[in-house]
Amino acid sequence: MKVRVDRSRCQVLAQCVFAAPDVFELDEDDRLVYDAEPDDALWPDVELAARSCPVKAILLDDN
Ligand code: SF4
Repeated sequence: MKVRVDRSRCQVLAQCVFAAPDVFELDEDDRLVYDAEPDDALWPDVELAARSCPVKAILLDDN
C-alpha cells in the first residue's frame, strides 16, 4: 500500500496530521512529511486522512 500527496494541491491544512499522526506530520518548517509506505495496520487511519483532506491531495494505491 502506497501513499502519495499531490503537493501542487496540498495547502498544508493538516487535517491528515490529525487523522493519521503516525503517517503524516509537519516538520519544523511546517512542510508536510509522510510515510509513503505505511504499515498495513495504519491503513484505516490513512483512508480517514484521505477522506479528511479538503483538497483531495492524498492519493492511495492499495496494490
Ligand atoms: S489534509 Fe490535505 S491539504 Fe492538508 S496537509 Fe494533508 S494533504 Fe495537505
